Amino acid sequence: MDFDFSEEQILMRDTARKFAETQIAPTVEEDEEAHRFRPERVKQMGELGFFGAVIQEDLGGTDVGHLAASVMAEEVAKVSASWGLPFNMQMNGPALTIQRFGTQEQKEKYIPALIAGEALGCFAITEPNTGSDVASMKTTAKETDDGFVLNGAKTWISQAHVADMGLVYVYTDKDKGVKGMSCFIVDMKKIPGISTVPIEKKFGLFCSPTSEIFFEDARIPKDAILGKRGDGFKICMAMLDVTRLSCAARAVGVGEACLKAAIAYSKERTQFGKPLAEFQMIQEQIATMYVEHEAAKLLVYRAAANKDKNVDARNTHEVSIAKYFAAEAAVAAANTAMKIHGSYGYSNEYPVGRFLRDAKSYQIVEGTSNVQKMIISRHALGL
Ligand SMILES: Cc1cc2nc3c(=O)[nH]c(=O)nc-3n(C[C@H](O)[C@H](O)[C@H](O)COP(=O)(O)OP(=O)(O)OC[C@H]3O[C@@H](n4cnc5c(N)ncnc54)[C@H](O)[C@@H]3O)c2cc1C
Repeated sequence: MDFDFSEEQILMRDTARKFAETQIAPTVEEDEEAHRFRPERVKQMGELGFFGAVIQEDLGGTDVGHLAASVMAEEVAKVSASWGLPFNMQMNGPALTIQRFGTQEQKEKYIPALIAGEALGCFAITEPNTGSDVASMKTTAKETDDGFVLNGAKTWISQAHVADMGLVYVYTDKDKGVKGMSCFIVDMKKIPGISTVPIEKKFGLFCSPTSEIFFEDARIPKDAILGKRGDGFKICMAMLDVTRLSCAARAVGVGEACLKAAIAYSKERTQFGKPLAEFQMIQEQIATMYVEHEAAKLLVYRAAANKDKNVDARNTHEVSIAKYFAAEAAVAAANTAMKIHGSYGYSNEYPVGRFLRDAKSYQIVEGTSNVQKMIISRHALGL
């Protein structure tokens, strides 16, 4: 497999790196402290083409592919994991899913605004009693003469209370099992009966808004359905295949930030008359972080490159391997970076505490580490 980046991919990577270093980094700690989300930054990222990477050109995208998209998400997450989330909330979740399953009218209505960062997006699967077991969701859409009526609640939805639109997964025909699940494109701010409540007290990802959504007799038009009635589960799994990949790429970014911080500190801090970097145990810790980071990166690039070879072929197990390994490696790297920083790692003076809080999210979102292992083991066992 050839991992030499094309000129286009290098340009996208360098643009994302420069943006993160010049636009996000200067206020990253202050924004974290204030739990500040900046909608204007989503627009800036849109203007730079970050959210058009996997979107076809006639809809405003650049179509440079999943490898370029992954590398950009990685670059942004190196500086701020929170700011890696819009890659999913704008592009890989809503925009790409509408591109794959939507009507021409839906594509034109939603995709250009999402990838330009002019409209904010979200996708809603999780419910108070539905996490890993997606099929157990309770939210329903009942068909009426002029559309559907939504009832139920979603929780832990990134960007929901700021979102203009969202992909909402519900049951239209519960008696048919997962074949009775459907996906709707919902205009979040225009429909009576939809309310959101921000989840203020998260463990990390402080600059990425998260919320609960309540649907109380929310009436949506008939043409809000994405794909066919009953296609929801299939659409959801196809979407997760891509959002998961981006999540893995972000985990690689955080892993690298941990490695760099640990290397810098181990050279700067002196104990027993020499820099920490000269102690063999510290060298072993750095070597382990380094190897795991390189391995995670290769797994992510392989999954992304294979997606680019055939966009419609599902490479679910490859994506799961990458996501599982990159998430675990990022958490391990953050843990080690904190150890190497000693008490300073436990303060806000250094960012490693933030890296650990943010890295933990990768073991949960887009399917927990156990869920990834379920997918991998089923593939390995041929089940
Ligand atoms: C910051 C953040 C942002 C999020 N954004 C979104 C979003 O935008 N949209 C959205 O829909 N959701 C979102 N989520 C929700 C996320 O996708 C879910 O939290 C995740 O799917 C896990 O579900 P759960 O938390 O209910 O855990 P549970 O499913 O209750 O799992 C709890 C534990 O049990 C384990 N477990 C469960 N089932 C099994 C099994 N069969 N075998 C072995 N172990 C098992 C899990 O691995 C986990 O360790 C977000 C979550 C967070 C933290």
